Amino acid sequence: VLRHRLARAQETLSQAGLDALLVTHSPNIRYLTGLQASAGLAVVARDRCVLVVDFRYATTARALAAGQAWLEIEVAPGSIDVAAATVIRRLGLRRAGIEADHLSVSRFDRLATALVEPPRPGGSAETTPTLVPTERVVERLRAVKDSYEVETLREAGRRISAVARNARQWVRAGVSELAAAAAVDAAMRTAGFERPAFETIVASGPNGALPHGRPTGRIVAAGEGVVLDFGGVYDGYCVDLTRTLHIGSTPPGFRRLFEAVREAQAAAIAAVKPGVLPADIDGAARGVLTAHGLGDAFGHGTGHGLGLEVHEEPRISRLAPEGEPVVAGMVFTIEPGAYVPGVGGVRIEDDVLVTATGCELLTDVAVEL
Ligand code: ZN
Ligand code: ZN
Repeated sequence: VLRHRLARAQETLSQAGLDALLVTHSPNIRYLTGLQASAGLAVVARDRCVLVVDFRYATTARALAAGQAWLEIEVAPGSIDVAAATVIRRLGLRRAGIEADHLSVSRFDRLATALVEPPRPGGSAETTPTLVPTERVVERLRAVKDSYEVETLREAGRRISAVARNARQWVRAGVSELAAAAAVDAAMRTAGFERPAFETIVASGPNGALPHGRPTGRIVAAGEGVVLDFGGVYDGYCVDLTRTLHIGSTPPGFRRLFEAVREAQAAAIAAVKPGVLPADIDGAARGVLTAHGLGDAFGHGTGHGLGLEVHEEPRISRLAPEGEPVVAGMVFTIEPGAYVPGVGGVRIEDDVLVTATGCELLTDVAVEL
């Protein structure tokens, strides 16, 4: 699996006229090499991959590379960036791409400085390799899941759905938002998740009108809606689910809001198939809400890719600039919402896998108030 991923990354090098890509974003390093680390740098050249780590990850990296001739490990005695620069010079790589979205200015400066050849008689500045900004090289590859990732996300989807089915045990009158969120987080760990994928959102009553409201000490009361948005990381992969519940009898205004969002979500899910533009999936949800007079109440995108990161490509948004159509193997959320100050908020979120003919729901929990 890793060799295949690396080969796809290497194909992009020649297209971009690069000798190497310096991978510094840790989810990208993990995707290409399997190393789960907070520090490291993978030098992906056209014919090899050198993973530069320091003492902290030396043992793990060597174990990963055992028997894998395609993966070379370089343990940096000091700075990883200085060691990577040495590798780049040693391999004679002239044009090295950097991940412009992830490399800090200071780290760029450190690399650029380390790449300058030490002065020697007859040497010239022309021998210094060039750092070339790139964007979304590995992210684009990651957007289309391989079979291992699909199976992992399917299992994660089943597990997060099982947690969601019990939501009413924790989200109920008399419990604070914070306590409810803590109970959901504990249930995720019990269900096999390594950690929450993000800070669990429990937004009750007026807080529900804040799309990304943080849980507070507010006590959930009868007669209120509650937006519960939570996600878990399972074997490195993120799933993300939102349900809106109502405690006690539901006022007609809130029910209308709920039904409109449910209809919008169903329309967006029905629009998912290979070849469709993300903006058109977004438009399917947005069109329904606009028809209900709620166009202005839906101020965020319809969804985001899921994988090693909880927000990744593709973005399902009217603002998706690239305009690249959806392809089979992509996994993303469909999460329209409507937020009306004074009435509250409703968001419903499920995770879908694009198939050859449409999509498969990875999360399957009843959508009911
Ligand atoms: Zn979510
Ligand atoms: Zn989400």
